[in-house]
Amino acid sequence: MQTLGVLGGMSWESTATYYKWLNEGVRNQMGGLHSAPLLLHSVDFAGIAALQKSGQWDLAGEQLADAARGLERAGAGAILLATNTMHKVAAAIESAVDIPLLHIGDAVGQALQARGVSRAALLGTRFTMQEDFYKRRLAERFDIDVLLPTADAMSEIDRVIFAELCLGQFHEPARAFYLGVLEQLRDQGAQAAILGCTEIGLLLEGVESPLPLVDSTEEHVAMGLGWLLGS
Ligand code: GLU
Repeated sequence: MQTLGVLGGMSWESTATYYKWLNEGVRNQMGGLHSAPLLLHSVDFAGIAALQKSGQWDLAGEQLADAARGLERAGAGAILLATNTMHKVAAAIESAVDIPLLHIGDAVGQALQARGVSRAALLGTRFTMQEDFYKRRLAERFDIDVLLPTADAMSEIDRVIFAELCLGQFHEPARAFYLGVLEQLRDQGAQAAILGCTEIGLLLEGVESPLPLVDSTEEHVAMGLGWLLGS
């Protein structure tokens, strides 16, 4: 197997899941003591979150591009950027390295297509929900029509991500709120829901959901495993 680079820490709560699932996936496929050959660059999320908030995406892109160059120099053959939101600067990362960035939007789009879903609810940070970079990729490459929560619901979903989930807090009121939003989006015609933030799966783990869930973390890890096991 070649080595896979993981660009994480955004937040480390979900990067820990990537680390665990990549290793479990390799063990399940290959057996014995096999585990995933990985290089992890885990950032200090406070700095990246501050750049998001102040709209300094170019600077955030430069920082992640530097980290990606380091992963490439250290021997990674491909990169998983373990966050949906920071795929807003995917182009900056892609142009900094000669190795492929395994795009989280493609992992999600392929999973939706495989399930025959063409109208999907999207939950994520306000950047992922409101800006174009994520929805456009799903529409253009996979013909997916995205349904969004109301403006008030988007604010609350975003608040919970940064004030609770990224701090490792998974509480019942947030869970109930997210499920209520999914119920509304189901009634508006969504066939499935994209958990388009890598921490939401941690909040909704094991719950009964009004809509089938497509977890970006799970699909992205599966894409990484496909690359590792095929390499
Ligand atoms: N992990 C989250 C995501 O998948 C949010 C943290 C971030 O802003 O990068 O979008």
